[in-house]
Amino acid sequence: MVFISDIRQHIGQTVEIKGWVYNTRSSGSLAFVEIRDGSGFIQCVASKQELSDDAWNAITRAGQESSVAITGIPKEHPKKAGVFEISVTHVVLIHQAVEYPIAHKEHGPEFLLENRHLWLRSKRQWAILRVRDVVETAINEYLHQQKFIRTDSPVFTPNSVEGTTTLFPVPYFDLGEAYLSQSGQLYIEAAIASVGRCYDFGPVFRAEKSVTKRHLTEFWMMDAEAAFVEHEENMRIQEGLVKYIASACIEKCTEEFAILERDSEPLKKMVELPFVKLTYEEAIPWLRERGSDIELGEDLGNDDEALLTKDSPVPVFIHKWPKTIKPFYMKLDPTDPTRVLNNDLIGIEGSGEIIGGSQREDNFDLLLERIREEGLSPEEYSWYMDLRKYGSVPHSGFGIGVERMVRWMTGVEHIRECIPFPRLVNRVRP
Ligand code: ATP
Repeated sequence: MVFISDIRQHIGQTVEIKGWVYNTRSSGSLAFVEIRDGSGFIQCVASKQELSDDAWNAITRAGQESSVAITGIPKEHPKKAGVFEISVTHVVLIHQAVEYPIAHKEHGPEFLLENRHLWLRSKRQWAILRVRDVVETAINEYLHQQKFIRTDSPVFTPNSVEGTTTLFPVPYFDLGEAYLSQSGQLYIEAAIASVGRCYDFGPVFRAEKSVTKRHLTEFWMMDAEAAFVEHEENMRIQEGLVKYIASACIEKCTEEFAILERDSEPLKKMVELPFVKLTYEEAIPWLRERGSDIELGEDLGNDDEALLTKDSPVPVFIHKWPKTIKPFYMKLDPTDPTRVLNNDLIGIEGSGEIIGGSQREDNFDLLLERIREEGLSPEEYSWYMDLRKYGSVPHSGFGIGVERMVRWMTGVEHIRECIPFPRLVNRVRP
């Protein structure tokens, strides 16, 4: 058996491919069957004259999504360079599918989501899954190059990183309630004192009723944390990561981008240029001059994020936010203690916030004060406070939302297509 993705190495030889029927069309004694095997798609051409009756019956009976083994001879398309076809010599029908509910026509999103287990097989979803794999692999590669190691964090947590209103509670034996984690950050802050630089990569959960094209209730996050890294270097690492991911997609996803009709030019331009940095204080008047009604002290809305990068070829860091709208663990800016040393990174092409990062408060007393100011319980965070008692060091980190990045890289409009089985406010099936 050979994979369709390797077919160019087998021109003129007899090969067997195994996969599913994607599309069929026949005209009299010729059948054109598009087969997908997971590695790619290929057109197979069968001629009644050249096949046994069994084989001809098999290929003409095999409807959409039937599974088949096809033997034949690959050749390059006479008119399209890099496109291959197989002249079929034999066919075995492995399983004949009953009538497939998802035809090659427009279907409504609810119907497709209800049939997500089948919808994943479409060419577009195949392309998105593969871009997602490239994004995840690139994240792992870049971080290892930067000397981070993967340590991972728990999903059941006793308390919240940023308050309990956005947490999913779970009954936990005799211990009362645990919560599904919304970020592993606090845990990797502990792990850096062991390994220096580390990251976790896994699902996180937000019980926010955000019904937007950018919010899932369960999404994959990569949190990275590094000892002895301060605010500016933290942003450099983030910029390097985003450029590394985009470069990997440009290099490896040509076929996927073609299926998705994603123009890679903006990404190619972006990886060559330095990202823009604006402090929060600079960003607010900049936005107001361009029509936003945002006030100093408010969080950026979707429209503000869109406005910030509308005409920008590169993502924009908005950094040094007011401490009043950011969590307790962010380090106060020594030059202005009403601000924190944090950043959001807003992607281009309408992708919105991709990364949130900050230098963390490493001073025991200041951290305790911030915990109290926020009305949180110091006992709950005693283990986290310990990290400031035994060799505390300046350290920083950030979290990147995998599906936000996949959405940007693929250019798809809705984040629900960027994860195999989306969990939304109104959907936990299939
Ligand atoms: P937003 O303001 O867009 O809701 P946030 O400020 O809550 O995001 P963080 O808590 O900083 O986000 O999370 C880090 C990253 O995780 C974000 O930059 C984003 O890429 C991703 N992210 C956050 N919430 C979601 C969500 N509900 N669905 C998908 N990705 C998310």
